[in-house]
Amino acid sequence: MSHATGTLYIVSAPSGAGKTSLVKALIELTPNLQVSVSHTTRAMRPGEVDGVNYHFTDRDSFLRQVEAGDFLEHAEVFGNLYGTSQSAVEQALAEGRDLILEIDWQGAQQVRRKLPQAHSIFILPPSREALRQRLTQRGQDHDEVIDQRMAEAEAEMSHYVEFDSLVINDTFEHALEDLRAIVRSYRLQTSAQQARHTELLQALLSD
Ligand code: 5GP
Repeated sequence: MSHATGTLYIVSAPSGAGKTSLVKALIELTPNLQVSVSHTTRAMRPGEVDGVNYHFTDRDSFLRQVEAGDFLEHAEVFGNLYGTSQSAVEQALAEGRDLILEIDWQGAQQVRRKLPQAHSIFILPPSREALRQRLTQRGQDHDEVIDQRMAEAEAEMSHYVEFDSLVINDTFEHALEDLRAIVRSYRLQTSAQQARHTELLQALLSD
């Protein structure tokens, strides 16, 4: 008898593409889908909660965890370390829960190598202007700061071709529908349906 194994999704995007709010809305609308909570050495932002947004840690502890092989993937992004707990991912998938990793392109490459069955999704902004606008916070930033963020976003976006699906965040609702369609079609794959409908398939094929 086959048993359920969760599906692993990787979602990457440049900052300013709206990834975090899209993923939040997606999991609210989708049963049995959750986001993996990463470890990071970056400072907590106002409103963030330890253990909810991230497991906040320091560089020494993080590096010890790397040594111990605790991370499925890890990478340095904008000067901070980020990593995904291997055991948390294994446990979720073994329990048949679907899991999203919100990680950068470097982490996506590492996960693809280890778990080639993972389905990776890249979210793009609808235009350069929209991206620039979203990267301009409170109108107080200097042009150089925004140019720097644009350059970082471009570097991230140059990896879009490595991903299985591309979603353009032109409107929030449209992009959310696309993400829901991807998850739904994955859940209809024969291997997933076989695990879910074992008894039905047995009954249909007996005698
Ligand atoms: P932020 O600090 O703004 O929450 O995230 C900065 C970047 O780090 C984003 O591109 C985000 O996807 C990425 N990131 C967050 N968690 C992880 C992780 O566990 N691994 C990797 N490789 N990247 C991550």
